[in-house]
Amino acid sequence: MKISWQTIGQMPEENLKEMQNEKVRFLMRTLVPMHPFYRKLYEQKGIDYRKIETVDDLQKLPFSSKYDILPTDEEPRRPRDFILQPNEELIKKVYPKSELIKMLAKKIMGKNIKEELEYEYKPVHTHFTTGRSTNQIPFLYTRHDLDLLKETGGRLFQVVGAIKDDIALNAFPYAPHLAFWLAFYAITGSGVLGLQSGGGKILGTEKIMAAVEKMKATILIAIPGYGYHLLRIAAGKKKDFSALKIFVSGGERLSPGLRAKLKELLASLGAKDTRILATYALTEAKTAWAQCHENSGYHLYPDLEFIELVDKDGNRVKAGEKGEIVYTNLGWRGSMVIRYRTGDICDGIEYAPCQYCGRTVPRLNYNIERQSDYKEFHLTKIKGELVNLNVFYSIINEFSEIAEWQVEIGKVNNDPFELDEIRINIAAEEGSDERKIDHELGQRLFSGLSVAPKIRFYKLDELTKMLGLDSELKEKRIIDARPK
Ligand SMILES: [Zn+2]
Repeated sequence: MKISWQTIGQMPEENLKEMQNEKVRFLMRTLVPMHPFYRKLYEQKGIDYRKIETVDDLQKLPFSSKYDILPTDEEPRRPRDFILQPNEELIKKVYPKSELIKMLAKKIMGKNIKEELEYEYKPVHTHFTTGRSTNQIPFLYTRHDLDLLKETGGRLFQVVGAIKDDIALNAFPYAPHLAFWLAFYAITGSGVLGLQSGGGKILGTEKIMAAVEKMKATILIAIPGYGYHLLRIAAGKKKDFSALKIFVSGGERLSPGLRAKLKELLASLGAKDTRILATYALTEAKTAWAQCHENSGYHLYPDLEFIELVDKDGNRVKAGEKGEIVYTNLGWRGSMVIRYRTGDICDGIEYAPCQYCGRTVPRLNYNIERQSDYKEFHLTKIKGELVNLNVFYSIINEFSEIAEWQVEIGKVNNDPFELDEIRINIAAEEGSDERKIDHELGQRLFSGLSVAPKIRFYKLDELTKMLGLDSELKEKRIIDARPK
C-alpha cells in the first residue's frame, strides 16, 4: 500500500520505524536473492540474511562502498552486479505470497504479470556519479524508480515550500546526472510551469537571465557557484528578479559565506525575501533531500531509505551525534545498495519533529562534509600536511570584495620534484584595493589552513573563462595540476 508523503510526515517515530522494519524484511527476503553482489557477499560471510528483520539488525551486515562497484580491469562489469536481476523461478520462490496473490488478482483483471515485473525491475534510465571520469559509476533506474524520482521530486518541492502557481527555472547542467533530472521531475511532477535550461553551457547565461526576468520565475534551481555567477552578472545589468521566492541550491556544498553573498546579490536584484534552501543528494540513493528552512536539516524519506551515521570504527553513533553517512535502500529497484558507506561526514540526525515545518521524518544535519571529494582531491598532502580544501570555500567567500576565485594546486616552478604550492586566482570587485585583499586573504588563509598561497589577480571575464562557468558541466573551482 502506498502511503502519502503527507501521512509519512505526520507519523510518530515508532510507526516510521515499524514501517522501515517491514521494508527491511522485504529487502532481505525478496530483493537480496535477486541482487548478485549482496547475495554473494552475505553467503560468503555465512550471514543468514533472511534473519535480518529490523533496522537495528542491519548492524550485523558488512558495509559496502563505491570501491565494490567501481569496474576493474579484471571485472569491468561490476556495476551490473548491483542491479536487481529477478527471473520467473526466483520470483515464485522469494516473493511473499500476499504479493503474488495481488499480482494474480491483477492478471484476472486483465493485467499481465510479466509487464508488471518489467515495470518494477527492467532498467530504462541511467545516471552517473559525478567525480573524475575514471571513477564514474552508472546507476540504473526502472520505470518504478522513475515514478519514485517524480514522487521524491514532488516531496522536495513540498519541503522547500513550492506551490502550483510557482514558475521554476532549472539551471542545472544538462547531463546524465541526478541533479538535472531530479529538478526536471520535481518541476513537471509538481505541475509547476518550468524552463529546463540545461545551464550555462546549453542555453547560455544571457538567455537564462532573460528568462528569469521575463517569465517572472519564482524558483531558481542551480549549483551554488553557477547561481552566484548568474546573479552577479544579472546584478551588473540591473535585472529585475523581484519575483524570485526560492533559490534551491544543489550539486555542491553551499557555504554560509556564499549564502550571504547570494542574499546580497538577490537583494540588489529586487528579491529581498528570497529563501536560499540547500539540498543534499547521493547518486547511489537516486534522489535528494531538502531543507524546509535555512536553518533546518535535510528531510529524509523514511519509506524509501534507512540512513544511519557511524563512527571511525563503523559503530552506529547515538541520535544527534556526528558520523559518516551510511545508506540502505528500502524502496528503489534497478541499481541499489545496502549499508553503503558514503564517506560524507554529517553533524547528526535529528528525530524529533522539525521545529520549522513539523514533519516527523528524520533530518540530516545541514553541515555535511563531502569526504568523498576530499579523499581524492580536497584533502591533499601539501608539504606532508593534510589540508581540507573545503575550507577555501568558507574563507574566501568571507571576502565581499572578491568577485570570483579559483584555487590551483601545482608544483613550485612547475618542477615535478619540487614542493607543492597553492595558487589562488582572484578577480576583485571593481574599485577594491588589491593589495589589501592580498594581505588580508594571505593572513586569513595562513591562520585558518597554515598554508601561504601565492595570490594572483585577474580580470573578472578572464577568471570566469578559467572557471568554465559558461562552458563546462562542472566549474573548475579547485584544480589539482600536479603531475600524477
Ligand atoms: Zn522541516
